[in-house]
Amino acid sequence: MSRYRLAPTPAQEAVLLEHCRHARYVWNLAVEQHGFWKPGRKSAPGFAEQCRQLTEARAEFAWLRAGSIVVQQQALKDFAQAMANFYSGSHRKPVWRKRGRGEGFRVVAVGAGDVRRLSRNLGEVRVPKVGWVRFRWSRAVPEGVKSFRVTRDRAGRWHVAFAVIPEPVPAPGTGEVAGVDRGVAVSAAVSTGELLNAPALRDAEKVRLLRLARKLARAKRGSNRRGKVKAAMAKLKAREADRRNDWVEKTSTDLARRFDVIAVEDLKIGNMTRSARGIVAAPGTNVRAKAGLNRSILSAGWGRLVERLEHKAPGRIVKVNPAFTSQTCNACGHRASGSRQSQSRFRCVACGHQENADVNAARNIRDIAAGHAVNARGGDRDAGPAKREPQRVLPSG
Ligand SMILES: [Zn+2]
Repeated sequence: MSRYRLAPTPAQEAVLLEHCRHARYVWNLAVEQHGFWKPGRKSAPGFAEQCRQLTEARAEFAWLRAGSIVVQQQALKDFAQAMANFYSGSHRKPVWRKRGRGEGFRVVAVGAGDVRRLSRNLGEVRVPKVGWVRFRWSRAVPEGVKSFRVTRDRAGRWHVAFAVIPEPVPAPGTGEVAGVDRGVAVSAAVSTGELLNAPALRDAEKVRLLRLARKLARAKRGSNRRGKVKAAMAKLKAREADRRNDWVEKTSTDLARRFDVIAVEDLKIGNMTRSARGIVAAPGTNVRAKAGLNRSILSAGWGRLVERLEHKAPGRIVKVNPAFTSQTCNACGHRASGSRQSQSRFRCVACGHQENADVNAARNIRDIAAGHAVNARGGDRDAGPAKREPQRVLPSG
């Protein structure tokens, strides 16, 4: 996603606001329907059923009918995605949307002719029922835009973000499997031993952000100064997001190009089985800190990395149950929570094998994908899958 400042005319803005209103209305209806649902009742309506209801509602209400079906349907699709994210454990439950906060809508089925450049720093995008809306061409618009999202922030500024589904990257054909683990000390660890770090803000930028935050706390509500401080903070955060996105693109392309199969943990299972427990250094006290850390790592682009991998290496991503991958020695197969000495160090209590904890976990993830058992206690790993039934790691209390 790359975001651009949108500059609608007042007449266009009125229609954009209508789109926002429709998207919000449809989203809130969906939230309400799911809110009524209680265990034991017939399931809440899914996306298809909601689309049917939308058609009915449009037949009944002229104001809804006057809006764009694309905008309204996408609001339902966004909701369905939000529910899926909620069930997979990566996001919170979708909630009611208030007017003026996080307003926006999505447009799909965007063609090559729907975005064009007018001059060095001016472009325009075609929005249903609105027509061509100008935006600041602040950086190159990616090729192959399939959809975009229009948003309005609380300050009333409009932005457009283009989404591109990248072309699949050809597999190398070497048969090589890589395991990639969501790191604790780094952003991601690869079974090859590589530690990948998503770029963050530089130290000087962090200091500046901190200073701005202090300034913001002192600034009067609604004052000019406050607006300026907020804008400066948003700029820094956008810079950080840009760097992260670049990193995700580069890293996912690189992995898709180098390996035939890429194994990652299945977040759906991972969030349930992999807790902050099991670290020797500071049992208990560490739990809260790690929980926060986990969340920040998630937001640091892990989910996005996997999503991009799935786009670039379709059918070559294997999701595995990550239970015990951080406690099992990749060298001898012994499992003990005591082997995980700290967040970054793994030292096997059985064989003494030492490794970066995330790399050790990444190798276990790779091996599970390749059909090896990782939870076997002291098993002979060299025997390989030919001599024993490939077994999946089972979670236990
Ligand atoms: Zn060992």
